[in-house]
Amino acid sequence: QSPMAPSSTNRGRRRVVLLPLPYQGHINPMLRLAAALYSRGLAITILHPETRAPDRRKLPADYRLVTIPDNIPPELAASEDIASFVFALNKNCAAPFRDYLAGALRAEEEGEDGRVAFVVADVDWFAPLSVARELGVAALALMTSSAARFLVYQAYPSLCRKGYLPVQESNFNTAVEELPPFLVRDLDRVMDMAQHLAYADLLAHIVAGVRQSSGLIINTSEDMEGREIERIRSEITLPVIAVGPLHMMTASSSVGSSLLTEDRSCLDWLDTQQPNSVIYVSFGSLVGIDTDEFLEMAWGLADSQRPFVWVVRPGLVHGCEFSTLPEELQKNIGSRGRVVSWAPQQEVLKHPSVVAFLTHCGWNSTTEGISEGAPMICRPLSSDQMGTSRYVCDVWKVGVRLEVENQLKRGDVQAAITRLMEGKEGEEVRERMKDLRHAVGKCTDEASMMSSTYLTVDSMESFNDVEAS
Ligand code: UDP
Repeated sequence: QSPMAPSSTNRGRRRVVLLPLPYQGHINPMLRLAAALYSRGLAITILHPETRAPDRRKLPADYRLVTIPDNIPPELAASEDIASFVFALNKNCAAPFRDYLAGALRAEEEGEDGRVAFVVADVDWFAPLSVARELGVAALALMTSSAARFLVYQAYPSLCRKGYLPVQESNFNTAVEELPPFLVRDLDRVMDMAQHLAYADLLAHIVAGVRQSSGLIINTSEDMEGREIERIRSEITLPVIAVGPLHMMTASSSVGSSLLTEDRSCLDWLDTQQPNSVIYVSFGSLVGIDTDEFLEMAWGLADSQRPFVWVVRPGLVHGCEFSTLPEELQKNIGSRGRVVSWAPQQEVLKHPSVVAFLTHCGWNSTTEGISEGAPMICRPLSSDQMGTSRYVCDVWKVGVRLEVENQLKRGDVQAAITRLMEGKEGEEVRERMKDLRHAVGKCTDEASMMSSTYLTVDSMESFNDVEAS
């Protein structure tokens, strides 16, 4: 363990201990929550497993970063077997977490440090959530994805019993009656039976952990998911706070959470482009595509004749590393396209040259796109992405689907771009995105954020009372 020495500005401040899950899409919202709590007067400790720990130098100087040993083999951390990874993290980190928290409580008693006000752990950290409660500390669970996604977690056992899961292609277009607006195709595509059972077991642990926590924070807003939030409130007896989207709760777009180095040169390149002309293309930090899809996507973008910025991160393309596009494509695209290995995404989306977002519909990317008013072209590939794409295209209607039959073809890409950028349908989609952006922005603007009761230190600490009552 390597706690930083407490700085003078932290002395006496109540402290919150935050425990992110080591994935980019989970670290970002947790560090944004940390920034929002810090600005409300709390001292911050980030507790992180050694695997993929954030770089101390990129975090605000006042934060403490404590890394805890996880003993996870690097192959498991890098594998797509998320259930085994998360189970192993919970098993291996529970004891170091207990040691840390017990030590922090002793330091507090001896007057060496400010009081630990509460712990916030990712919902996936079911073991530490229960350890915190055993030690008498309020433990809030953070759902970094949507409220709709949490409803899927809760419904998982009954969806299995009723035969929706594991999903079968023959059922893809069956409506999931318990979870409108989802069709079976929008659920997790874990088709291997052993993996499906492990995943179902993980979700059962997650839901049980949340139910025993002091409250659930969800990275969403009433304007996006009012009905879903209400439903969760009616199904669990805990306080449920729709807090976000969290990236809108902090003034700064960078909270030091990027695990890869951002290539900021694309911002200079965007400066040279026409306003509202560039398509930003990104598939987030995890999913991979095959070489055929990569090349068809590239040709589709080339054929669209529109400028684009495309994030091709290491590992995006299965089985080979592309750091640039093949020569023939490059010639065709000329200076119209810019490939980067990692972008300052929020700043790119904010840039006046960017007109649309071709996205995998990761939840953070989706909320970031909405807050910048970037209408979307959706190419969901796994996990919660299909469900989020359903909301983008059919509930909020602020994006179009990249329609694909079996394998992606370049014409599919071009067709989706044309649908969004030309004609009546695209115009309506773009108008609705402006409205949604406005609604979400209004509920999280600085003034309402500071006066709101849902993210004040007192409201968070009142969970201790809820617990006691
Ligand atoms: N991101 C980024 N630069 C990139 C691509 C992604 O900073 O080039 C960030 C993005 O802003 C988002 C996160 O990585 O906050 C990805 O999370 P998301 O939930 O969208 O997808 P995941 O990576 O979990 O699939």
